[in-house]
Amino acid sequence: MRQRLILHADLDAFFASVEQRDRPEYRARPVVVGAEPGRRGVVAACSYEARRYGVHSAMPISEAVRRLPPETVYVRPRMAVYAAVSREVLAALATISPVVEPVSIDEAYLDVSGLERLFGSPEAIGRRARDAVREAVGLSASVGIGPNRLVAKLASEHRKPDGLTVIPREGVQDFLDPMPLPVLHGVGAKTARALERMGLRTVGDVRRVAIEELRRRLGRVAGARLYERCRGIASDTVNPGTSRKSISKEITFEEDIRDLEMLRDTLRWAAREVGHVARREGLKGTVVTLKIRLEGFETHTRTHTLSVPTARDQVIFREGWALFQAGDWSERPVRLLGVGIAGWKADAGTDDQGDLFGGAESGPKPKEERIYQALDAVTAKFGKGTVGFGVPRRKG
Ligand SMILES: [Mg+2]
Repeated sequence: MRQRLILHADLDAFFASVEQRDRPEYRARPVVVGAEPGRRGVVAACSYEARRYGVHSAMPISEAVRRLPPETVYVRPRMAVYAAVSREVLAALATISPVVEPVSIDEAYLDVSGLERLFGSPEAIGRRARDAVREAVGLSASVGIGPNRLVAKLASEHRKPDGLTVIPREGVQDFLDPMPLPVLHGVGAKTARALERMGLRTVGDVRRVAIEELRRRLGRVAGARLYERCRGIASDTVNPGTSRKSISKEITFEEDIRDLEMLRDTLRWAAREVGHVARREGLKGTVVTLKIRLEGFETHTRTHTLSVPTARDQVIFREGWALFQAGDWSERPVRLLGVGIAGWKADAGTDDQGDLFGGAESGPKPKEERIYQALDAVTAKFGKGTVGFGVPRRKG
């Protein structure tokens, strides 16, 4: 089997760095991007100068204000700008390897296997990636390279900001062993506490424990997973967005549902989830699928093909609902309902056949698209329920 070489690139203090890039007077000062001081809310991101005071993202803004000196700059997030910069970064990384998988607004994995012949050592590939990002957007990224995703990610976190860490396969164990367990992605706080009660604090400690013991203490799946991760065994597959064949979301109800309004709301929710994933992956599809299961596991799917590719919640919902209404199952109780999209096509203009914002205008909607992307980006970073619609404003 061919050995993979995986690169993880992570922009340093992304939102705050964009603000410092665009406003030279913010440089070398603590910068906090997030809620307005004096209001409720949290820090979305902060510069390294602010981190020195113990401030971090997700901290309440009131707490940050207490800790930070008067020269601190507080700005409201400009999500549309960050989303645009993120796209430029991905384009720059794609010049290094065509196999790029964005994982959040400021992080991506690249499969750089076999590129040594072209670029030289793994270090040279890493430098090239960092330079490409800096040239494209004027920001620093930390880069980690390793035999799989886990090691590459830990390597990029190893030296920040502007770091470059390469961990060859034979160096993985020495790199991981001294690490505290919570650093190992996938080890939650609860598991870490359970392991600490067993006297295990580092990756190396856990590596000395037999797999049976880990399974007994943590459960079969979690135990086996930890056993592997402690040995640096993890996925080495990078999935560029387009390798996905379809995106779908479905709900199985606890009991059969007849209530049309509830079914409609469910479909609307599912369409929103599907649209969110599609936009995150930069995909637009032409085939909307409705899936419905009635009593007795009787399952049907119906599809509709659009003339214009879309990633918009409203269009996915409208087509899905039309398929539902056209079905011959009306009045029958529903056990499962879902909607999906597939048939990816490049964006050939605009899908202006429905308007999320309620207006009836047609034509291109670059602004709405930007807002969508901005919302998606925040959702990806901070979880659902963090933001609603609203125009990001800039303060100060
Ligand atoms: Mg980052």
